[in-house]
Amino acid sequence: MSYFGDITNATKTLLTGMKITGKYFFVNLFTRKDVITQQYPDNKDKLVMFDRFKGEVVMYHDENNHHRCDACTMCELACPNGSIEIIWDKKIDEETGKAKKELVNHIYHLEMCTMCGLCIEACPSDAIMWGQGYHHTTKDRSNLTKSLNKPGSSLIPGYKKPKK
Ligand code: SF4
Ligand code: SF4
Repeated sequence: MSYFGDITNATKTLLTGMKITGKYFFVNLFTRKDVITQQYPDNKDKLVMFDRFKGEVVMYHDENNHHRCDACTMCELACPNGSIEIIWDKKIDEETGKAKKELVNHIYHLEMCTMCGLCIEACPSDAIMWGQGYHHTTKDRSNLTKSLNKPGSSLIPGYKKPKK
């Protein structure tokens, strides 16, 4: 093949290969119609993680700021990394008149958590679950130590632990 024939052939092959890419590049440059690539962190405000995403362990609270944690410490015992510490106190139960455990602080060390899920599986009350928070970067390690029970929250009144 001639010299110029080679150049023509190479250009033709290149354009054929770049046809689809070129179409998406030029069309989407102006219309932004078929763009599927998400640019993090520009999309941080509207980014929703998928349902099965394991971002961090969180505690369920209802609209009255009640949770289901009775400080049984099963999650603390199940955690292989010591990422959970349950601080509890004893309080007299008005119904029975007997002393009963009460959660003071459910401490979660996210910086040590490997997201294995053993704590969630161990909880007989489904009091803790996976949360979808993903933006955990911080310059201060202590920000990764969290209290899972919200300030002022308490156990659902009359809550009975399910038998598992
Ligand atoms: S997910 Fe695993 S490592 Fe993290 S707190 Fe629970 S048991 Fe511990
Ligand atoms: S979160 Fe669940 S397993 Fe952990 S102390 Fe509370 S009730 Fe028990």
